[in-house]
Amino acid sequence: MGKPIRDSRAVDVPLAAECIAYYGEAIDKVYDEVAPTGPSDVVTLVREPLGVVGAVVPWNFPLLMASWKVGPALATGNSVVLKPAEQSPLTALRLAELAAEAGVPDGVLQVVPGFGETAGQALGRHMDVDLVAFTGSTEVGKLFLRYSGESNMKRLALECGGKSPHIVMQDCGDLDAAAEAAAWGVFYNQGEVCNAGSRLLVHESLKDELLERIVRVAETIRPGDPLDPETRMGAIVDRTQLERVLGYIDAGRDQGADLHLGGGQVLEESGGYFVEPTIFDAVSNEMRIAREEIFGPVLATIPFGDEEEAIEIANDTVYGLAAAVWTNDLSRAHRVSRALRAGVVWVNCFDRGDITAPFGGFKQSGFGRDKSIHALEKYTDLKTIWIAID
Ligand code: NAD
Repeated sequence: MGKPIRDSRAVDVPLAAECIAYYGEAIDKVYDEVAPTGPSDVVTLVREPLGVVGAVVPWNFPLLMASWKVGPALATGNSVVLKPAEQSPLTALRLAELAAEAGVPDGVLQVVPGFGETAGQALGRHMDVDLVAFTGSTEVGKLFLRYSGESNMKRLALECGGKSPHIVMQDCGDLDAAAEAAAWGVFYNQGEVCNAGSRLLVHESLKDELLERIVRVAETIRPGDPLDPETRMGAIVDRTQLERVLGYIDAGRDQGADLHLGGGQVLEESGGYFVEPTIFDAVSNEMRIAREEIFGPVLATIPFGDEEEAIEIANDTVYGLAAAVWTNDLSRAHRVSRALRAGVVWVNCFDRGDITAPFGGFKQSGFGRDKSIHALEKYTDLKTIWIAID
């Protein structure tokens, strides 16, 4: 899908393997419960597999997003029908081959490549699918809610889009670290990351200095051949997405934002779809580039005057996937993390995580959590077994 091979090797493959191993090792350490009823009864609360899980995943991390679903769904005793994105089906097919080789019985993990409107919708409307675990856009997430309501009321776990605020407070300690995090937070994986820090909210007193440092980092991130092991930024997944990203850059210009860096397609002679790291300054939160998910390497810089205003702008979005705040003040770090309406809040870092911590959104970024022990909950139903003793 255009990501640098370096990232596939260093990030996607090892994290996917870690995810599968984690759930394999976790499942015999999860206990059921006994309810604290009176002495005349014994009441057990047991978790049972749902049955058939449909996993519908996007193209931006084809292997990792599939693993986040397949790992906990299989560990809890379900069978899985995985539908990869039409742009990136080969990874999922390879995963299925490896699963067969590892001894997963026939029919327990199946991969059905196909388009969203056909294969995806068929899973969403199938009467024998008990849950769809979806990662993708908010628009398609809402379609799955409809499919469920119009079919068998199947359960849903929806990991959808984001427009994450990356807030740099006046008392940010290490401005170089913040600049590095802000740049990689939106340019990593060509910006095709659901939790990308695409809105940079910066205190007005620091804005020029911070932007200068972000530009210095961005200038070291040049798009290049994804198969070259030195490349740090690859190609946009396809022409449709390229046009979408370039369309947003035009919209930013047209609505009066100040193009500070980049803004163009590069390496056209290669036949690939490369976009340079792009930074807009003087963005207002009402502009389309601040409101809509671009899913490309485009940073929108929005200055603010005080903490209250920063929180207000940060939360003024339909999304709530992730957020970050840079501050040296411990009380402010706690206060702001609580006030931000997002499923993940980073303090003095960006996009850190591991398999032990849940990931997922508030508001129209969806519901249900991937990763950690909590991910197991959504793949099971809770049954009460009430046994009378006397
Ligand atoms: P998408 O919503 O277009 O597609 C996601 C999946 O849904 C694909 O498998 C696709 O084939 C399927 N699909 C598309 N239309 C469908 C329909 N009408 N009915 C049923 N299925 C359909 O998203 P995308 O372009 O592949 O990926 C980008 C989106 O994914 C972004 O919005 C991004 O934020 C989101 N994403 C979210 C997370 C997260 O964890 N929250 C992670 C990665 C990506």
